[in-house]
Amino acid sequence: MLEKLKEDVFRANLDLVRHGLVRMTFGNVSGFDRASELMVIKPSGMSYNEMTADDMVVTDKSGNVIEGTLKPSTDSPTHLALYKSFPTIGGIVHTHSTYATAWAQAGRPLPCLGTTHADYFHGSVPVTRKLTREEIENDYEYNTGLVIAGALAGRDALSIPAVLVQSHGPFTWGTSPAAAVHNAVMLEEVAHIAALSVSIAPPAEIDRHLLDRHYLRKHGLNAYYGQKD
Ligand code: 13P
Repeated sequence: MLEKLKEDVFRANLDLVRHGLVRMTFGNVSGFDRASELMVIKPSGMSYNEMTADDMVVTDKSGNVIEGTLKPSTDSPTHLALYKSFPTIGGIVHTHSTYATAWAQAGRPLPCLGTTHADYFHGSVPVTRKLTREEIENDYEYNTGLVIAGALAGRDALSIPAVLVQSHGPFTWGTSPAAAVHNAVMLEEVAHIAALSVSIAPPAEIDRHLLDRHYLRKHGLNAYYGQKD
C-alpha cells in the first residue's frame, strides 16, 4: 500500500541525517496521500541507521494504524492536524535543528533580514504561543498542530512553509516530503545566518519591495528563477 510514498518518506527521513538536521532519533518526516486521506510517517524512536522503507507506518486521518508493525511517530497527531489545516501541503518535517530550535527557544519569530530568507519564506517565520497546561495535558501533540496553524493566522501555508514551536523546535512543510525537507534545510540555514547577523549588530528587516521581488521571482505567478520544467 502506498509503496511510492513510503519510499519517498523513508528517503526524506534519511535526508534529515544527510543534511545534519537531526541527532539520535529526533525528528520525523511524513507524507500525505490526499486521494486516500492516508498518511505515511516515520516509526517512533527508531534509529535512522536501521530504518527501511517497509518500516514506514501508514495511518488514516484519525491516526489509526492501517499498515505497519511499528508505532508511528509520537508527533503523528501534529502532522495530521497540519494536513487538515493546510489542504495544499503533501509533506511535513519536524526537527530539532540547532539554530531554528534556538529561535524557537528564544520565543522569537525569525525575522526576514535578507534575500536568502526571502527566496524561501515570504516574510518572517512565526513562533507559536506557548501551549497552556491543559493543552499539554490533553491531546498535546494534536494541540501543537493547532497552535502552529494559529500562528500562521491566515497566511498562505506554502508562502510561509515553516513555524517555530515555542520551547520546542521547527516544523516545515511543502507539496511533498522532499519539498518539506528542502524547506527544513533552508530554514536552518537562514536561522543560522540571522543569529550571526543579530550577533554582529541589530539588523534592519529587509525592505518590503526587495522581499517581494526575491520571493516572487522564484515562487510568484510570473516566476522566472531557474529552468523551465
Ligand atoms: P519520534 O521518534 O516519535 O518521531 O519523535 C521524534 C521527535 O523529534 C519528537 O519531537
